Amino acid sequence: MNKLRNGSKELIKDINRYKVLNIIREKQYISRSEIARLSDLGMSTLTYIIDDLTRQGLISEVGESSSTGGRRAKLIEFNKNFGTTISVKIEEERFLIALTNMNAEIIDMMKIPFEKYAKPEFVVAMLEKQIEMLLLKNQKVRSDLQGIGILSSGLVNRHEGIILRSSMLGWNNVPIAQLLQQQITDVPIFVDKNINGYALAELSNGEGQESDDFVLVSVGAGLGLSVVIGKKIHYGSIGGAGEFGHTTMEMGGYPCHCGQQGCLEMYASEFYFKNKGKELLSLYPNTSLKHFNFEEVAEHAQKGDPLASELMDKMGCYLGYGIRNLINTFNPDKIVIAGEGIKYSSLFMENAKRISQDNFFSKMGIETQLVQSRLKDDAWLVGGALLAINHIFQPPLWVNE
Ligand SMILES: [Zn+2]
Repeated sequence: MNKLRNGSKELIKDINRYKVLNIIREKQYISRSEIARLSDLGMSTLTYIIDDLTRQGLISEVGESSSTGGRRAKLIEFNKNFGTTISVKIEEERFLIALTNMNAEIIDMMKIPFEKYAKPEFVVAMLEKQIEMLLLKNQKVRSDLQGIGILSSGLVNRHEGIILRSSMLGWNNVPIAQLLQQQITDVPIFVDKNINGYALAELSNGEGQESDDFVLVSVGAGLGLSVVIGKKIHYGSIGGAGEFGHTTMEMGGYPCHCGQQGCLEMYASEFYFKNKGKELLSLYPNTSLKHFNFEEVAEHAQKGDPLASELMDKMGCYLGYGIRNLINTFNPDKIVIAGEGIKYSSLFMENAKRISQDNFFSKMGIETQLVQSRLKDDAWLVGGALLAINHIFQPPLWVNE
C-alpha cells in the first residue's frame, strides 16, 4: 500500500527540487531571479538545487535574456532531450506507438495492426518488439527511456495499470502494465483511458492554457468524457470517472454493450446510426446507405441522402441534450469536442449547440462555450507521453509499504 512519506529534511529537499524543476519545465526558458520569485526559495537553496539539476543533465544554462537593459540575466533551460518516453494508444485493431522527448514532442511514430480480439499477451509481445525497434531506429538505448504511457479504451484501474474491461478489445482484467513490465523491467509504466490522455494534451497545449475548468467530450465510434476541475483531471474512486456515455438518455432504450439499456452512447455516437438506421431503413427505399458507420453516414448526409441526414440530425440533438446535462452538472468554462467525429462536425454541431446552449445557466444570461479541439490527431500520443512525464516529475511523496 502507498503511504505518505513522513515529514523530514529529505522530503522538503525533494519537494523543493521538483518545484524548481517543474517551474523550469513549464517555462522552458527562465532566469534565476524569476525562478526565485515563483518558487519562493532563497538564492542559496536555489543555487544548490540548480547545480544539482545541472549535474544530472535535466537543465542547462543557456544564452541571455534579451530584455530590459541593464545587466543581462543568464537563462536556465529545461533539457528536453535528457531522455525519451514511449507513448502507446491501443485501438480496436491496431496500436499507435511513438517515441517522444521529455516535452512530449513526437520524434517518431508507427501504426501496428493486430487482429480484432487479439489476445493481450500477443499484443504486449508486439509492443515490446516495437519499443525496441523504435529505440534502435532512432539511435536510442534502453537507458534513455524514462517512462512508458499506455492509453486504452474501456475501464482502466490506473493505480494498478489494469484494463478492467474493454468491450472493444474483448479484454477483461488485463494487467497490461505488469505484463509489459515482465519484459521491460527497468522503466516505469503508466496506464489510463484514451480520453484522459487527450485531456492531458489539452491541459498542456490546448484549452488548458486558458481554462481551469473544462470538460472534454470525444464523439465518434463511442462517446468519451474527461472532466477537468481546477486544471486537474477528475478520476473518481478507481479512475473510472467520465462514463458519460453510460448515463441514461432513454428509459428502456436500446440495449448497450455495458449491460444497461438506453445509454447516451447508443444515441450520441456511431452506435445510434446502427440502432436507428436499421429501424428506419424500410421507410427510405431510395437510400444508398448500406453500412451505418460514422464515415459512410456522414458522406451520405453531405450528399443529401435523406436517411443519412435524419440520422445525423437526431444524433446531434441527443449529443446536445447530453452536453446540456454536463453543463448543468459541472458548470464548466467550456465544453471541448474532440474525437474522430469532429471531421464531420458541420453535420451535427449546429443541433448540439442549439440544444446545449439552452441550459440552466443560459436562462440567467451565463454562456458556456462549446468549441472544437484545436489539437491535431497526434494529441492522443502526446497525451500518452504526458501521462508518463507528469508522473516522472511528481515529487516522490509516497512510499510503498
Ligand atoms: Zn452503456
